Amino acid sequence: MDTGYPRLPTDTDNGLLLIISGPSGVGKTTITRGVERGIGDSVFSVSYTTRAKTEADTEGVDYHFISDERFEELEQENAFLESADVFGKKYGTRKRWVDEQLARGRLVILEIDVLGAQQVKTAMPDAFAMFILPPSEEELLNRLQNRKRESEEQIQKRFAEAKREIAFAKESDVYDTFVINEDVDRAIAEAIEKVAQARTAQGK
Ligand code: 5GP
Repeated sequence: MDTGYPRLPTDTDNGLLLIISGPSGVGKTTITRGVERGIGDSVFSVSYTTRAKTEADTEGVDYHFISDERFEELEQENAFLESADVFGKKYGTRKRWVDEQLARGRLVILEIDVLGAQQVKTAMPDAFAMFILPPSEEELLNRLQNRKRESEEQIQKRFAEAKREIAFAKESDVYDTFVINEDVDRAIAEAIEKVAQARTAQGK
């Protein structure tokens, strides 16, 4: 079979795919990076996006920033494991890279939205899906306002979207587990513990 990546004699094919989702402002990126640092054989999947690069972003580390045309080409080639429109921009996960890392036996971390998570769980039911929750909706609104990144109108839009995402995550059967981010260090420790349990349960 042509997998699109080189097979190694050391490949074990027993990697675990970890999905981390959560509304904006919940601290998902900090938790994701904390889990990545805390688990030795983990790798973070750098997504492809058509959104503009900001000063806080590093190409190839946070995202691969590509044009709408290139994104469409990759879609046509079936290069994405999942893709979704988030706030009017496209985001996608490269399938070949994920498959290669899973073959190497790694913990592969996807930080993706709820629609992407649903697609991945359908394609790969063994994926372990985690949703990060704020301690309360009021606290999430406070955090969005304290970031001072956006206008009040944009903040309210993100807050409304966040509430929809949380409701969807709770109602759907996409997520295997929920972690409340009250204290970020404790949330990271809890996430790492849950991943360890999932790996043991799946023999990975
Ligand atoms: P941001 O542009 O603020 O970094 O991310 C916006 C949203 O897009 C976040 O909810 C993030 O989890 C989601 N996202 C990032 N990469 C991907 C991806 O490859 N696929 C999907 N479906 N969502 C993504």
